[in-house]
Amino acid sequence: MKFQLTDALAELQVKGLRRARKTLTSAQGPQVEVDGRRYLAFCSNDYLGLANDPRIGEAVCRSVNLYGVGAGASHLISGHGLLHQQLEQALASFVGCERALLFSSGYMANIGVIPALARRGDAVFSDALNHASIIDGVRLSRADLEIYPHGGMVHLERALAQSSAPRKLVVSETVFSMDGDLAPVEQLARLCARHDASLLLDDAHGFGVLGAGGRGALSHFGVHGNNIIYLGTLGKAAGGSGAFIAGSDDVVEWLIQTARSYIFTTASPPMVAAGLLKSLELMESEEHRRQHLRALITALRDGLQSLPWTTLPSQTAIQPLIVGENQAAMALMESLQAHGIWVPAIRPPTVPPGTARLRISLSAAHSLEDVERLAAALHAAARASMAVPHE
Ligand code: PMP
Repeated sequence: MKFQLTDALAELQVKGLRRARKTLTSAQGPQVEVDGRRYLAFCSNDYLGLANDPRIGEAVCRSVNLYGVGAGASHLISGHGLLHQQLEQALASFVGCERALLFSSGYMANIGVIPALARRGDAVFSDALNHASIIDGVRLSRADLEIYPHGGMVHLERALAQSSAPRKLVVSETVFSMDGDLAPVEQLARLCARHDASLLLDDAHGFGVLGAGGRGALSHFGVHGNNIIYLGTLGKAAGGSGAFIAGSDDVVEWLIQTARSYIFTTASPPMVAAGLLKSLELMESEEHRRQHLRALITALRDGLQSLPWTTLPSQTAIQPLIVGENQAAMALMESLQAHGIWVPAIRPPTVPPGTARLRISLSAAHSLEDVERLAAALHAAARASMAVPHE
């Protein structure tokens, strides 16, 4: 049967699953402009409010004068510059690992590192809520996949004990991107050490936020070991773009030799590395950003009480409000938009069916008043939804 794209698109529409982009005509931040309208926005991963920091912008501009705009080649040909090298060293020492390796994005890091560490005949153990880039990385690896229930350490331990695969790799996010909860990282590290498995920790949403000075999940949970491979992304709290893997010297050297999404792509522009070197400095020195973020999280959780939608036990900047059906989540998003507030509705396949939600994300650039305004608008939307007569 011929695959009809028009019909397939119409079907997405009917199911409330068709996505549409909005075009920002302002910089990223708590206030954004879309189609000439200003919104109070809770939809970025700019957790520390660094995405539009002028000091980072200045560092980028200075580097353009010295190193130009494009890297011009892949890292292994001639695209690896001094700024990339300095950034890798700074990132490795920041998170406390021997060595780090830059990737152009977190997605590319996951689809590169997983097939480099596991291949056909090996086994990958993956949390049920892991990100799409992890899922795709496992598919590319052709390793056997064991999905364990979200945070299910008993299940994982049993599966590890039963596996006779030559190489075992456990993969988990640290802060789950759609639920905001933390993985049991100490237990994961213990189980992996006991069963001779490697552990890949995707700290996309923890790097810059968790741990002393924002050093991320390794510092927050106090886990170390040559079998731990760390992934941090640079487009979220760091406010720039890209990602890195950190780990032992051998792991990084192996990735340079074998990770296809590292080898076969142009290095990111040196100006991005220049901005990130500055951003790393600010992330570490400006503790007040994390303190303020914590105060915002507490205020928001207080403000979300007694709403008809379910909150999750998240203590992080990601605070989902589970609505259920796709259309209902879209309707709630639209009612907030009418109040000039933008919170994205997240639908399957990004989240499991029946758990469509508003994903509220906080940034240190928000004020307490911003959070109060969001809570008040949600309570108004709840009252309005209850006032609608049911047929
Ligand atoms: N891992 C996780 C857990 C993520 O949430 C994301 C992005 N949402 C990524 C990886 C991909 O990172 P990037 O946006 O840098 O490609």
